[in-house]
Amino acid sequence: MTTVAFIGLGNMGSGMASNQAKAGRQVLAFDLSPDAVARAVENGCEAATSAADAISRADIVLTMLPAGKHVCGLYEAEVLPNAKSGALLIDCSTIDVESAKTVANMCQEAGFNSADAPVSGGTAAADAGTLAFMVGCKEENFTSVQEALEPMSKATLLAGSFGAGQAAKICNNMLLAITMIGTCETFKMAEKLGLNAQNFFDISSQASGQNWSMTSYCPVPGPVPAAPSNRDYQPGFAGAMMLKDLKLALESAEASGANIPFGSHAAEMYQAFCDNGGDVKDFSGIIETL
Ligand code: NAD
Repeated sequence: MTTVAFIGLGNMGSGMASNQAKAGRQVLAFDLSPDAVARAVENGCEAATSAADAISRADIVLTMLPAGKHVCGLYEAEVLPNAKSGALLIDCSTIDVESAKTVANMCQEAGFNSADAPVSGGTAAADAGTLAFMVGCKEENFTSVQEALEPMSKATLLAGSFGAGQAAKICNNMLLAITMIGTCETFKMAEKLGLNAQNFFDISSQASGQNWSMTSYCPVPGPVPAAPSNRDYQPGFAGAMMLKDLKLALESAEASGANIPFGSHAAEMYQAFCDNGGDVKDFSGIIETL
């Protein structure tokens, strides 16, 4: 039986670890929060006593942590000193490209195959096992990375070498922020012009304004019943997470010399949203500021 160490059982990791267990794998679960570990055990995982305990027994090590400093710290202190020879190491967190490359270099030097594999899809897709993974790894390791991620995934796509998964994720989420703000201001203007939200949705979702922020995550309540707008913008994908991703986009743009006027403006708007309580609301709640 394949043994998986799963470290980081938060909003995303909890459903992801549970889907690994549902696929018949032994999942050794660890989080700094005992409540998160208890929830994982209810969902078919085994409680590990520490990160080292989980990692030292695993064929595959999966991490789903908040940011680059957590991933670098855990790899240095726990993953690399304790992983079994031949273990496959995959980080699914959204982190900066430089940290992802640093982690990959450390893994290479220690003789491990590794990948950065951030996800798109949010908590609903994490629970349903339908995330999209964007992978940075050596081409010859991609099939084993795909197999490792399969119980959690509807699509696993190779973006390129180490760090490319994070680059794809950062670009994707900058586009998501821009389309969400555009969708919000459009629905607000439609309202001012006397259009009914459902009626405008029915038209625009069949016309050239159609986009994911509208049709899968509509920021006005009604047209998409599963969207956070129908539950007072409870996340979902928190404003703080979107702001984090936009800051990664700003850093990446500066480092690469990319010109991102809309991305920069989106970052300013999400900063203001978060400063006024939007950090713990879903990112689509930015509509309330317009
Ligand atoms: P979260 O804060 O809910 O979960 C992170 C978990 O990591 C927490 O339970 C925390 O206790 C644990 N943790 C932190 N440091 C640890 C350590 N050293 N050892 C063990 N556990 C540790 O965050 P989340 O929403 O699950 O997001 C995780 C990652 O996924 C982030 O990088 C985020 O950007 C990305 N992401 C989130 C979403 C979303 O919709 N929430 C969507 C796509 C990607």
